[in-house]
Parts: sequence; C-alpha cells; structure tokens
Amino acid sequence: MPSDSSLFPDLETIRTLDDRLTAKLLEHRTNAAKRSVSANTPSDDWQGELARFSFDAAEDLEDLMDWVMSALDDGIVQMTHPGYFGLFNPAPTFPSECADRIVSAFNPQICVWSHAPKAVEIEQHVIRSVALRAGLPINSTGHFTSGGAEANGTAVLCALTAKNPEFGEVGSHAFDGQPIIYASAESHLAWLKIAHATGIGRSSVRLVSTDGCGRMDAVELERQIEADIVAGHTPVIIAATAGTTNAGMIDPLTECAAIAKRYSVWFHVDAAWGGALIACDEARSALNGIEKADSVTIDAHKWFATTMGAGIFLTSRPDIPADVFRVTASYMPDSDPANDFYLNSAQWSRRFVGLRLFLSLGAAGWDGYAQHVNHSKRLVDLIVAGVSNEGWSKVNASDMAVACLTPREGSETVETYVNRVQASGRYWVSKAMFEGRPVLRVCVTNGRTSESDAKGLIELLALES
Ligand SMILES: *Cc1c(COP(=O)(O)O)cnc(C)c1O
Repeated sequence: MPSDSSLFPDLETIRTLDDRLTAKLLEHRTNAAKRSVSANTPSDDWQGELARFSFDAAEDLEDLMDWVMSALDDGIVQMTHPGYFGLFNPAPTFPSECADRIVSAFNPQICVWSHAPKAVEIEQHVIRSVALRAGLPINSTGHFTSGGAEANGTAVLCALTAKNPEFGEVGSHAFDGQPIIYASAESHLAWLKIAHATGIGRSSVRLVSTDGCGRMDAVELERQIEADIVAGHTPVIIAATAGTTNAGMIDPLTECAAIAKRYSVWFHVDAAWGGALIACDEARSALNGIEKADSVTIDAHKWFATTMGAGIFLTSRPDIPADVFRVTASYMPDSDPANDFYLNSAQWSRRFVGLRLFLSLGAAGWDGYAQHVNHSKRLVDLIVAGVSNEGWSKVNASDMAVACLTPREGSETVETYVNRVQASGRYWVSKAMFEGRPVLRVCVTNGRTSESDAKGLIELLALES
C-alpha cells in the first residue's frame, strides 16, 4: 500500500484524472481568445473561498483542480490570449509544455551528472548549441537559471571573483574602494537587487546615461569609469543590455567590449529578451559584439517562448563559476565542476528545465524560431504603420518586436489609451517610460497573434482619447 492514495494514486486513477485534465486544458485553450485578457481583482467572495481551504480535511483533487482553473480563467492577465501585447511573458511553445509533463513524471535530479547522466548531457548540449549560435568560443559553457535576474546575479558574482580571487573569502573587503557595476539607465533594474544581495551595496550600481535613443552612451561609460578609478573605486563589470525591456534597444556592444578590455573588467551582455535574434540570419548582426562577452544572459522563457522560469547563463570562462560555486559535501556522489551543476551554479537540487528548449528547438529548428521572431516583428511593423496613419509616432528605433508609441495628442494621454485598451478585455498593452517620457508599449509575445488581432488593436488606438 502506498503512503496516501491521494498523493500516490493507482495507475487507473491516474489515467482517469490525467485524461480529464487534458480534456479540461484543451477546453481552456479553445476558449483562450474568448476570455478577457485582463485580470479580475479577487472579490471578497473569492477570498472567502480561498480562506476556507484550511487543509484540515482531504478534498477531492478533481474539484480542487477545477476550482484553481476557474480562478486562472479570469484571475490572471492571459499570456495565451492573442490580444496580449504586453510585457515579455510568452504564450508557451507546445513542445515546452510537453517537456514539463515529461520532466514532472520522471522528476530527474540533474544537479549531479552521475544521478541523471543522459538528462545532464541533453541540458549541456542545448547550452552549448545556444552558446555557439551566439558566437561564443567553443569551450563556453553555462547553465539554466530561474530567469534572467538569476543569470545576471551569477554574472556579477563571477565578475567580482574574476577581478579579485580574495572576494570569495573576505567579500567586498578584498577591493580597494567599492566594486562598481555599470549598466545603462534603461537597463533592467535587477542590478540594484543584485548589488544589494551580493553585499557590494546598491550605491555600487552606475546607471550610465543613454544617448537619447535608449542605448548606453559609451563615452559617458568611459568617463564614469575614469572618475570611479580616480575616486579609489574598482570597476568590476560592464553589463550591456541587448534588447532593453521597455524598448528593445541594444547598447553599443563592440564599444562596451573594447572598454571592458581596456579597464580589465568583466563584459556581460544581458540579452534576456533580445537573445532570440540569434535565430535569425538576417537580424542577428544586430547583436554583433556579443561574441566578445565573458558572460551572456538569454531567457528561454522570453522570445524563445518556453514555459517559465527558464533563463540561461552562458560564459566563455567556465573556470570562474566553478570557483564561485565550489563546495564539498560528503553526501554528494560526485565532484566534477565541469559536469555537476551544483558545483558551477547557484542552485543545488535542479529541475530538468533545458528539456523545454531542447524539444522546442528540436521540433522547430533554428529556422522555426527565425520564423517566430520575424512573425512578431512583422506584426509590430503592421501596428506601427496602422497607428502612424492616425497620427501616432514610434519613438524607439528598435528592430525588435516592440514599439514605444506616443499618441497624436501627446504623451499625457498615454495612460488614457492604456486604460482603455486594458478595459476592453480584448487587448492588453502597457505603459512604459522611454528616455524619460511616458509611452504606450506594444510588444508581440504570442506566436498565435494574427494580423486581425493587430488590426483590432489599431482600431482601438485610432479612436480619439
Ligand atoms: C526580463 C529581463 C530580465 C529579468 O529576467 P527574468 O527572467 O524576469 O528574471 C533581465 N534583463 C532584461 C533585459 C530583461 O528583459
């Protein structure tokens, strides 16, 4: 007898529940476009229902799942809705969903090669394929992370350790003055949390000014580095963004790489979202310079559209993470930092997340992803052309699938438009700041979004505020 038949049902029960769940999920997929794309605020009644789950008595799993799915039906912003033109949370690829199911059933522990050799080999194969496609040197490695923020945090730890091997033992005291992180004013602000968590302090982050077009100003970067050296600080890492979150702008990577080399600091490229451009032969040159990076962040769960959370940390200097994350534990079966993820990454127990990208890349090939990227770019171009006829302007000169738009009446009316779109329940766009101005941000994140969805959004934006 198993310990508890609700937790470990017999195979016949599993089959019944599994089949029913699959049918229910298909129903949800079928209705994806009919739901409101915006989230309802939880009502008092619903909060009461939630509070009644005291877990004192066992309840029926089928009923529980139905209750949760009905909550998700109207209580979340719908990533799978074709009218979602929002922040970069994808409608997931079907192969990545399949991967999650397979991984859940086997639940391999991949922190140690010897515990799951074939799973680890698959994971490493995906990592190497992405690194090579990004143009990194042949010996580059990396690992999957919970997301871009973790990968960026790993980059900072590597940079600190590479700059001063004493950092691992004595922390920030190893440095003369304060160790300094450089990112642009338009970068993803996880850098502040990372600086806090690593103990070097939030004041160590220099948000270098941009060039008026959302890209780091390389002249200003160098000036800031010089000033910090004069002040007795130690520059440690330049984190260039390749695809800013709000506007899809790419910092001057080649210049940043040259400056990093000149001052012997770590060069990191945060391509969490923009990294997917490596799939496109025509578009990937926008990322030129990325191949010079000491480390790179690419999120599989952004433009590669796998289920969350799946970030990737890549590095051309595998010896550094192996130093940062080294540890010996008597109960661990192996100790090879080249193969055992618990010895070269922040996580210990580790899910087989890479299978999501393995199955997606395998099923679509790089060409399939190029098509996905081009599809989103084409729809954004269509929207920009449509609203331009109505007096709107696109203010970000990005080649990615994002447009920062200002209405004909001026940027004060952005909020009115954003509220209207969200209230429609048919489309979802966000408000963002670009170079200090409010903009309406339109981003295609769903591979099922079509021209008619784009046209519907144009019509809504064409109405006067
Ligand atoms: C999304 C994003 C991040 C953060 O990644 P998470 O996966 O949300 O942790 C970092 N940098 C950029 C440029 C991003 O777009």
